[in-house]
Amino acid sequence: MLSNIINALTHITLADVFDILLMTVIIYSFIRLVKDSKAYQMAIGIAVIGIFFLITQWGRLVVSNWLIRNFVNYAIFAIIVLFQGEIRRFLTTLGSRTFRRTFFLRTVKKKWEDLFIAVDYLAKHKIGALIAIEREISLKSYMETGTGIDGFLSKDLLASIFYPNSSLHDGAVIIKDNKISAAGCLLPLPASHKLGKEFQTRTRHLAAIGLSMETDAAVIVVSEETGTISLATHGNLQSKLKKEQLKELLFQYMK
Ligand code: ATP
Ligand code: MG
Repeated sequence: MLSNIINALTHITLADVFDILLMTVIIYSFIRLVKDSKAYQMAIGIAVIGIFFLITQWGRLVVSNWLIRNFVNYAIFAIIVLFQGEIRRFLTTLGSRTFRRTFFLRTVKKKWEDLFIAVDYLAKHKIGALIAIEREISLKSYMETGTGIDGFLSKDLLASIFYPNSSLHDGAVIIKDNKISAAGCLLPLPASHKLGKEFQTRTRHLAAIGLSMETDAAVIVVSEETGTISLATHGNLQSKLKKEQLKELLFQYMK
């Protein structure tokens, strides 16, 4: 075995090195992507099955080996279905790290002042709100569940959308670049979450977590019950934020 390794090492070419580097980057990006989601546990499960498979191969455990091999044929389809969110995210991030980001951040910082003022106003008046901000993954399919607006981001527009008697106050507002793209949008609820039992029926907060699990969006929640401000990213909810904290966390995340 050692001689095999030495033999392989002496015949290594530049293309092989590049191949290995590329694989490393792909595997690393995928691990980073699934690290915080439910897919992480599944990935561990799959790794365990992989180890069992190798053991049955080395130990010549014919029946167990046959069983795992047959299972794997079906498991590949199961993995594609179960990981579809992650795979979609992986492919879109690969395709879109561009200059757009830097330029976008510079122009957006000024525009977002209105967003923070509006969120602060809504929180102080205990007006419930749900605001999703698109990052690299398109939120188009969620925008389509609501009413298209395509209006400039202004504190007055935001406040009037969420005003309790407004016909668009239910559901989520989606912000793309520095525009309010849609309101009254339906966001996905998460299959599971780390919040306690008291959040079991708090659908506004759950929907924020749900979208931040499925996509890379940042989602702001203002609670109408408590007037607190929360921010969901990567399936985590940071609660009881002050306006300045929200600002800092959001800019940090959008970088
Ligand atoms: P709050 O603290 O404001 O009461 P909550 O987390 O307790 O929020 P609910 O009281 O269940 O949540 O809030 C319900 C409101 O949240 C709905 O009227 C609707 O506007 C919004 N909402 C609930 N689920 C979704 C969803 N899947 N997508 C978008 N908006 C949703
Ligand atoms: Mg509630």
